[in-house]
Amino acid sequence: METSVCIIGSGAGGAPVAWQLARLGIAVTVLEKGPWLRETDFYKDELACCLRSVYTPSLHDEQHIIEERANGQWSATPTSESGWDFWNGNMVGGSSNLMSGFFHRLRPNDFRQLSVYGPIAGANRVDWPISYDDLEPYYALAEQVVGISGRADPKEPHPAPRSTPEFPHPPVAEHPIVPWIDKACAELKVHALQVPRAILSEPVGPRNSCEYSGYCGSYGCSSGAKGSARTAFIDPAIATGHCRVIPHAKVHRLVTDERGRITAALWFDQDGQEHRIHADLFVAACQAVETSRLLLASTGPKFPQGLANNSGQVGRNLIFSAGGSGSGDFPFAGRSAEEVEALQTMGPFINRALDDWYEIRDPAFADGARHKGGIVELLLAHPNPIRKANSLKWDGEDGLLWGLPLKRKLESWFRTDRTLDFEVFCDWLPTDDCRVTLDGGVTDRWDSPVARVRLNAHPHDLEVGRFLAMRGAEVLKQMGATRISSNISGAPPVNLMAGGCRFGDDPGASVLDAECRAHEVENLYVTDGSFMPTGGSVPYTWTIYANALRVGEIIGKRLDQPG
Ligand SMILES: Cc1cc2nc3c(=O)[nH]c(=O)nc-3n(C[C@H](O)[C@H](O)[C@H](O)COP(=O)(O)OP(=O)(O)OC[C@H]3O[C@@H](n4cnc5c(N)ncnc54)[C@H](O)[C@@H]3O)c2cc1C
Ligand code: SF4
Repeated sequence: METSVCIIGSGAGGAPVAWQLARLGIAVTVLEKGPWLRETDFYKDELACCLRSVYTPSLHDEQHIIEERANGQWSATPTSESGWDFWNGNMVGGSSNLMSGFFHRLRPNDFRQLSVYGPIAGANRVDWPISYDDLEPYYALAEQVVGISGRADPKEPHPAPRSTPEFPHPPVAEHPIVPWIDKACAELKVHALQVPRAILSEPVGPRNSCEYSGYCGSYGCSSGAKGSARTAFIDPAIATGHCRVIPHAKVHRLVTDERGRITAALWFDQDGQEHRIHADLFVAACQAVETSRLLLASTGPKFPQGLANNSGQVGRNLIFSAGGSGSGDFPFAGRSAEEVEALQTMGPFINRALDDWYEIRDPAFADGARHKGGIVELLLAHPNPIRKANSLKWDGEDGLLWGLPLKRKLESWFRTDRTLDFEVFCDWLPTDDCRVTLDGGVTDRWDSPVARVRLNAHPHDLEVGRFLAMRGAEVLKQMGATRISSNISGAPPVNLMAGGCRFGDDPGASVLDAECRAHEVENLYVTDGSFMPTGGSVPYTWTIYANALRVGEIIGKRLDQPG
């Protein structure tokens, strides 16, 4: 099998590259480990989705080994035992099929964190090799192609400058309690940021506008409104006639020659049959943990420690979107009929975040100097009743609840009040204690070594998270919420992972160059979230899309002018 460019993984990092190249008439083959599900395959079955995932592999077939530190000691637990699932969406389009579509650009200072905010002991903070201005045209392109709905906000406290005056689509419909949030924020003199969404508020071509199904995050979209990598990039790439996608194709090794060039990718099909594909260029986009795993498993004559890893950098500086969450309840009792009706409304979005503290200069925080902060995203609690009931059975103090106390708790949740949640997003500082290696003993169902993921949050992340959670709680309090609580911990949100193959100018301290080409491998690019050397305090997907569009354009120019 031959192709010009072989892309491994069809998610947010792989699909935009395929789109860019296919438009230029370059033959692209995308190998995707999961199935090819389309709008008609997605459903909102509460039992099947979220209770047990239908979009990720069985943890007995494919697991991770998670290392955590307690009392100064590292201990390792297989996810087949803990049930802690590090897989996200394994299907054509990747995890972006299941995202909620909260879309934020990084801010200019996120590209120069070391210069602006300075070093932190125990953290590998660096500046990016590119600037916000380098990426801005691709944020703008992603906005158009993905179909991002929103309204430019001239009063944003920490703006990401725009080259275009307005979003291509007006904001998606807002929930009737949004004015309550705006009022509380105005009273507290806090800016309520209107959050853009990768969701169509109006139909575009074959894609319908949002149906406000209420089941967005963790669910596939049956209307085509969600700007998943499959809908926005793969489908149009296929339509050019230059892109083919092979689902159920699990790549397990990249083969290199004596010169250190990749000559082929080896992959297994659904029946366990091995295949080989040859290409001029290879793009790895398997999501952070799995891209590092694939490179580490791909040893060769020039790469005894794994592909592109003579520097020992592959798998290092894995990051997540740090933070935590909080919530407050709004009891129906004592409210007017209109207010209760507003609270009970399902479907429209909250679309509000607090970004006054994207940078913190507050005497109440640390030394009062300038620190990197984050955002607080407001959202209604996920409506899946089974997942919720399952979590309500736990009592904070005594373990399991049952009988009347459990019934009362369920009744309160489902019938007597509505909960408004918030999620805190701040930087997960890159450290030596958060990384991917290969496990020496455990293999997956194809006999490939599984990834061993060492996790440790820097204490500074927790400090920032707690500060932001207090700000979120203040807004809920001002709105009149009861039972306000928050939980900031060092446990990573596994759906928001990046790093492991950071890009940078120093080949001794990074895996990729500024163009996301491996320093050590002339025909390898990495375009999923792995390239990010630091995170920024927002979910990553708009940045992954933008960077993949940038790199796709670079590869297209390179193939157009060989030599
Ligand atoms: C429930 C949920 C909600 C989210 N909400 C948001 C949000 O509101 N806003 C936001 O910005 N982000 C959100 N995200 C995160 C977003 O989906 C990810 O940031 C983004 O998809 C990551 O892109 P990626 O290319 O790194 O990985 P992915 O998009 O996951 O793509 C990786 C692909 O590679 C495939 N693959 C892996 N290994 C192999 C292999 N060996 N061979 C072949 N193929 C392979 C996988 O099956 C997958 O399809 C959410 C994610 C989830 C799961
Ligand atoms: S229809 Fe709207 S709310 Fe439902 S999954 Fe699609 S984008 Fe999300």
